[in-house]
Amino acid sequence: MADVPDLQGVLDNDLCIACGACVLADPSVQLHLHPDKQIFEPTGPGGRDAAEVCPAVQVDFAHLQDLLFPGQEQTPYGVVHSVMLAQSTDLDRNLRASSGGMIKELLVELLDRPDVDGAIVLQHVAGLHFEPGLIRGSEEVDRLPGSIYHNLPKHRVLELLEEHDGRFVLVAIPCELEGIYNYITKKAPHLRERIHTTIGLLCGWQYSWHSIRAICQFKGADPDRIVDVSYRGGGPVGKLRIWTEDGKEYAASRRIDVGYQVAFDRTFNTPRCHLCINHSNFLADIVVGDAWLPSTVGTKTGISLVINRRPASEELVRTLAERGRAVFTEVTVEEIKESQKPRVAFGNFAYAYADHLRELGRHVPDMDGPNKVATSPSSRTEVEFFHRELERKLELQRQGRYRRLYVRKLTRELRRFAARYWEWFAVRILRIKSIKGEREELPREMLQIFR
Ligand SMILES: Cc1cc2nc3c(=O)[nH]c(=O)nc-3n(C[C@H](O)[C@H](O)[C@H](O)COP(=O)(O)OP(=O)(O)OC[C@H]3O[C@@H](n4cnc5c(N)ncnc54)[C@H](O)[C@@H]3O)c2cc1C
Ligand code: SF4
Ligand code: SF4
Repeated sequence: MADVPDLQGVLDNDLCIACGACVLADPSVQLHLHPDKQIFEPTGPGGRDAAEVCPAVQVDFAHLQDLLFPGQEQTPYGVVHSVMLAQSTDLDRNLRASSGGMIKELLVELLDRPDVDGAIVLQHVAGLHFEPGLIRGSEEVDRLPGSIYHNLPKHRVLELLEEHDGRFVLVAIPCELEGIYNYITKKAPHLRERIHTTIGLLCGWQYSWHSIRAICQFKGADPDRIVDVSYRGGGPVGKLRIWTEDGKEYAASRRIDVGYQVAFDRTFNTPRCHLCINHSNFLADIVVGDAWLPSTVGTKTGISLVINRRPASEELVRTLAERGRAVFTEVTVEEIKESQKPRVAFGNFAYAYADHLRELGRHVPDMDGPNKVATSPSSRTEVEFFHRELERKLELQRQGRYRRLYVRKLTRELRRFAARYWEWFAVRILRIKSIKGEREELPREMLQIFR
């Protein structure tokens, strides 16, 4: 693996995802919210120790998977024991959650076990600030937020693991686990024993804080007076809701609000997300995401896609079902591909974009995932076009010219914007691929157990 002297390349290319590994590895490093980029990143480049653990510098997936799942076959979906669709039977928990409410069910089950001393999970602090905290009892689970899509500093996970003896459950997005395991394998192997189970989220992207700032501008809210935010809940897709100090609530449909489509366009992602090849969370014991399948589109409350990477994870879901707390049906890896799209599952865009940036002499993370064997790289034209658009739009974001981006979406981007909607409508609602026989849908009777 590359010998990189510091984090300068990460900083110059905005590639930090705020996992916090460098903060623990190098005492000179702290994270701050960069005023122009609106992402958390180190205040300075630190040194070799910081670079050595940084997942924006390198991730050795083959090594980490061997370590975590010794002797198991590494498929393009990572190590897979079984795949399920699942849903909490607790209607309120399911409705408040982002998809099927499975993470909270799993947490309740694990926290009640004698060999688990707590769970390190994201909690709300104030306003837009959320940070990892330690919960000890299952009664605390329903106070946790649903999915939070803006970039957040995660160094507290490793700090909490260092501070507390015992065995803990971790809930984490994929790149967070990359940082955690980079740090543990290179700097603190003793911490591995403190991890009881990792519950991973599937993750397509996260956003810089420009997204929230932009949507606030479109809705007339003051982003500096936000007291809380919720991106999901109330149904399978859910609304973005923002509450401000004066007691007002601002809401935006995540599907049809044009302002939302502008502010949560992929150019608002933290830039490393464009290079991410680990959306399916290869390092987690059990992975939970949304079941975005044509056959689940009719759900009223949301269904989770669950990837069990260990027999013990599958056993956990079966136990929940036996106790009447969840329902599930077994599916195949085809449903991972269908739900996430090959572009995301196999890094079609990310591998091609990394090659392009390398050619331009930019720093990119050194990482090949188990999915590289199945990748079908995006075309050079697509990658070059995206890069040009990204550079221009990042410039506008950093100047706070969000209205310019709104106008752009409705003028020069209108055709592409409309095409994306049409594709979604044709595939998910009209089920054109199924009708043409290009894809097999799950039989209706398999899904009758879900709301
Ligand atoms: C940034 C992000 C991007 C995602 N992208 C996708 C995607 O593209 N496709 C897909 O299928 N699923 C994605 N998910 C996962 C999805 O939104 C749900 O979180 C997942 O299906 C679990 O749903 P649930 O109903 O069980 O969870 P919930 O009951 O909603 O629980 C969510 C749990 O995750 C924790 N959490 C919330 N946000 C974060 C965060 N940012 N970092 C760490 N922990 C967090 C909370 O503390 C809570 O314990 C994403 C999640 C996040 C956070
Ligand atoms: S990605 Fe993680 S390790 Fe790398 S600079 Fe950001 S916080 Fe530090
Ligand atoms: S897409 Fe990848 S890099 Fe981006 S937040 Fe999700 S796991 Fe991290």
